[in-house]
Amino acid sequence: MEQLTEKLQGILSKSKSIVFFGGAGVSTESGIPDFRSADGLYNQKYDVPPETMLSHEYFFSHTEEFYRFYRDKMLCLDKKPNAAHKKLAKWEAAGRLTAVVTQNIDGLHQAAGSKTVYELHGSVHRNYCRSCHKSYDAEYILNSDGVPRCSCGGLIKPDVVLYGEQLDDYTVTKALEAISACDTLIVAGTSLTVYPAAGFISYFGGQNLVLINRDPTPFDGRADLVIHGKVGEILGSMV
Ligand code: NAD
Repeated sequence: MEQLTEKLQGILSKSKSIVFFGGAGVSTESGIPDFRSADGLYNQKYDVPPETMLSHEYFFSHTEEFYRFYRDKMLCLDKKPNAAHKKLAKWEAAGRLTAVVTQNIDGLHQAAGSKTVYELHGSVHRNYCRSCHKSYDAEYILNSDGVPRCSCGGLIKPDVVLYGEQLDDYTVTKALEAISACDTLIVAGTSLTVYPAAGFISYFGGQNLVLINRDPTPFDGRADLVIHGKVGEILGSMV
């Protein structure tokens, strides 16, 4: 492990523009469960699978049940950024990192101070009325009972990309621009099984593709450096 982290430090020290591409594993060290680990949400017992509950179809057909699950499992508003979020924000402020591309919806990169964050799957912190487009914060959703309603009576929907929904065009374009232009891409805390996000790695044309993940991923063979470990611990130890 020490040799691998030394190699990572060597790569980072020489990099002029780093982009970070992350997933749910980036926030597990903040206490937010991921989906596909052994202790992740997909391995807990539910009458309806989480993939179904987090779908576009289910949101509109079972709105109350959707919100029960969403409030309970997806709204982790008391969680704080960990060492990975903080180090990335520090590198951006120092001009070493150009963007964070994330599949996460928890807003912890911004809470740590990151500015250029492309949230491929949206954010729990943005919520809009389906009728009049008035916006609401996550606390409003958490503290409302049943189905959250707008002052106009309209249904409020989180700005989160549910299964069966398309990614936002602008966010995708900016994320791909950043990934194509950087010299080092760090991919971390993602099983790389959710598409189209996982396919974004193919747009990288720089020198160093670094993969940091607790479990092996289908992309391990394509990376210049693979470290199987905890992203917070590893990035936290880098300068
Ligand atoms: P995933 O659950 O499919 O995979 C997470 C991966 O992270 C696993 O391979 C696991 O080995 C690894 N991992 C877990 N903890 C780690 C750590 N501390 N250090 C390094 N690796 C670690 O997650 P995914 O690939 O991001 O796809 C799941 C989808 O679920 C995403 O679209 C995401 O939007 C959503 N999601 C988001 C959150 C969040 O916002 N925090 C939480 C759960 C799920």
